[in-house]
Amino acid sequence: MSHFYFDSEENGRKSFELPGAKPHYNPDRPGQVDHIFLDLVLDIPNQSFTSTCTITLTPVRSGIKQLTLDAVDLEIESVLIDSVSQKFDYDGEKIEIHLSQPTTIKPIKIAIAYSVDHPQRGLYFIQPTEHYPDKPTQVWTQGEDEDSRFWFPCLDYPGQLATSEIRVRVPDRYMAISNGELIETETADNDKIYHWLQKQVHPTYLMTLAVGDFIEIADEWNGIPVTYYVEKGREEDGKRSMGKTPRMVEFLSKKYGYTYPYPKYAQVCVDDFILGGMENTSTTLLTDRCLLDERSAMDNMRTESLVLHELAHQWFGDLVVIKHWSHAWIKEGMASYAEVLWTETEYGKDDGGYYILNEARTYIDEDSSRYRRPIVTNVYREAIELYDRHLYEKGACVYHMIRGILGDELFDRAIQTFVNDNAHQTVETVDLLRAIDKATGYNLMFLFDQYVFRGGHPDYQIAYAWDGDNNLAKLTVTQKQAKNSDSGSNSELFDLKIPVAFGYVNNGAETSLQTFNLRIHQKEQSFYFPLDNKPDFISFDLNNYFLKTVTLQYPVPELKNQLKYDPDPVSRIYAAAALAEKGSLEAVKALGESLVKDSFWGVRVEIAKTLGKIKIHQAAEALNAGLEDKDARVRRAVIEALSNFKTDAAYDTIASCLTKGDASYYTEAAAASSLGGMVAGNLKTKQEQAIALVKEVLAQRAGWNEVVRSGAIAGLGKMTTVPEAVDIILEYTKLGVPQALRLAAIRSLGAVSTGQTPNKVGEILEQLEAISGESFFLTQVAVVGALGQMQTAQAINILNNLAAQTPDGRVRRRAEEAVTKVQKNLGADKAVKELRQEIDKLKQANQELTSRLAKLEANNQ
Ligand SMILES: [Zn+2]
Repeated sequence: MSHFYFDSEENGRKSFELPGAKPHYNPDRPGQVDHIFLDLVLDIPNQSFTSTCTITLTPVRSGIKQLTLDAVDLEIESVLIDSVSQKFDYDGEKIEIHLSQPTTIKPIKIAIAYSVDHPQRGLYFIQPTEHYPDKPTQVWTQGEDEDSRFWFPCLDYPGQLATSEIRVRVPDRYMAISNGELIETETADNDKIYHWLQKQVHPTYLMTLAVGDFIEIADEWNGIPVTYYVEKGREEDGKRSMGKTPRMVEFLSKKYGYTYPYPKYAQVCVDDFILGGMENTSTTLLTDRCLLDERSAMDNMRTESLVLHELAHQWFGDLVVIKHWSHAWIKEGMASYAEVLWTETEYGKDDGGYYILNEARTYIDEDSSRYRRPIVTNVYREAIELYDRHLYEKGACVYHMIRGILGDELFDRAIQTFVNDNAHQTVETVDLLRAIDKATGYNLMFLFDQYVFRGGHPDYQIAYAWDGDNNLAKLTVTQKQAKNSDSGSNSELFDLKIPVAFGYVNNGAETSLQTFNLRIHQKEQSFYFPLDNKPDFISFDLNNYFLKTVTLQYPVPELKNQLKYDPDPVSRIYAAAALAEKGSLEAVKALGESLVKDSFWGVRVEIAKTLGKIKIHQAAEALNAGLEDKDARVRRAVIEALSNFKTDAAYDTIASCLTKGDASYYTEAAAASSLGGMVAGNLKTKQEQAIALVKEVLAQRAGWNEVVRSGAIAGLGKMTTVPEAVDIILEYTKLGVPQALRLAAIRSLGAVSTGQTPNKVGEILEQLEAISGESFFLTQVAVVGALGQMQTAQAINILNNLAAQTPDGRVRRRAEEAVTKVQKNLGADKAVKELRQEIDKLKQANQELTSRLAKLEANNQ
């Protein structure tokens, strides 16, 4: 599964475990589910369906008198076992079947006839609406984590693997796509029946169905059909976005040492999908927002990563299945790490290294601003809460460390052993350790203990000094995350062997490295190295395999050398950050030079970011040189950095970039968004001009996925004291505005509210409250994001109502976290005071209602 990326701006770490969290275990097993057969008839106009679900079960023991199935909000008509009607109780969540005959060890067939009207989750009907008349008609499903029970009765947990079969009747203009192979189609009146069979076992959360008026684009790998399904008119975008799939199947089949295991691989792009993608067995569903046009393909790598991510799950998740959600990092960490492996192969080692650095940063951001938790834990309220940056990005970093410790060859061997030993079975984290040991002899329990079974990561500070009299290098390593200095019992200390290299630059270009392995396990340790010559630079954690944060305290000459000569781009990025800390003219000069000269775009992006933090005018001048960079990603970073300098010159540069336009949507979006943040203070006089510019963009630049106009809205969001900004944004939150743009507008209502008058804040709250009643997942997430940035207790009321009413655990969790954020924005005292006022108001309203009710009752008697 792959999520959209949400903003996380919380400060101060809280607990992962919210009130009500408890340990979760798989249920006791009545036996083995062998096969699930769904026979569905869809009534699309009425958003309902009827179905018979037949489960073949081999009891694990005889004498079972009761069977319990997960089934939420279904209308159950009958339950038969081997064609005999059974008594059952149903409470809307579970079916309790009272068997007329206790089980023997002979397989039984449980057939449940049921219907569903307007399902809340699990299966989604998409249709044109009054405000969106062009929306396509589609039906699609989303099972992970525990939503399959909303569309069919089952033992809904990943520990049960079965073969499956879906027969579905739809109006004949629609196509129905499901897991496995299409074994039969029939026509009946104006309908068509599709019959799909999945012969390899898989869990219930991976069963899927997608129905729509799709165009099929046929491709293949080694004779296996690889198909892409898109709405009519998106054929070119479909090929552009998914066309590398066969090469990816080849890559992963080799990498995992296991040939792609299913009879086909389909990717269906669906409308209003609530995720980025979902790896249903042999049939991945993707959001249609991943479809790229020619211009967005230039600097959008997310689609390629998304396609690769879901494909990697066909092995990690679908072929090798997690036994329990608490071990989901095995699949999500690997699918995320596969993005790194692919990037490295497709674009080179530098791109791969930069990719994993950014994965680490995404996790570190969650760890520092939201909460810290062990990757593996079974304590939560809903399993979906586990699908966070610890599971995905930190999980990927763990795989990267395993590779660093084992080396490429043994890493591949370990992964291949894991896949081959566990194909078509379920696994827990210990199975990965066992496979590594079996294939390589290495026991990596120490690594898992530190990075998987407990939270956190090391925060190193490295100080370097050279003693020229004795030709001695001194390195002092401090673990800043550990609070007290006595080692041994301190569970915050990490104990790792980390390679450190001293670098020498020969003939001004070639570098050679002298490497040492250091065991770093104390709060502070000093190491002395007798060397033949003074090194030109120092590379701590050579190759950067370990997940960490690091601050370098080296003299300027060594940092300059590292920025220029270290072959590892990630090390050059660390050097750039340390140089920027110095903030001197000399540092700016070195950074400016590398902004133009560094061979890797990622380093140039990072240099632009660091220059944006140095508040001297030479830094702004140095940035100007990056405006013409051939890589759009660098131009975008330069614009964003430049906007930190609130000068006429910087404003003019960015405004002219926006007026002239850029080859990249994202650079234009960055320019539009940056302008809004600049026109305060010194540049207040430019306010009107900026608003005029942004309005022009909003009127004219509807383009791919509304990226540019969303940038303009974000720019308005930064104009926190301008009432007109609120008026414009509110216009774009109305129904009928293209969804991507509307979501951006809803989100930016929070930011723009922070400096507005009480009247304007009132208007914003009113609109957010109205929108909070809409049921679409992404809209609810946007509303929560906006409210969480506000500074009024009324936001808390709306959030509490939303948390109480939403059917989605993620929205609920986000809303609860947002309440805490607003309370913090307000300051505790003010929050309590405002809440009291709210309670007083409610009490008063309640009293009035009570007295009116009493009067009514009196009149009726
Ligand atoms: Zn995933």
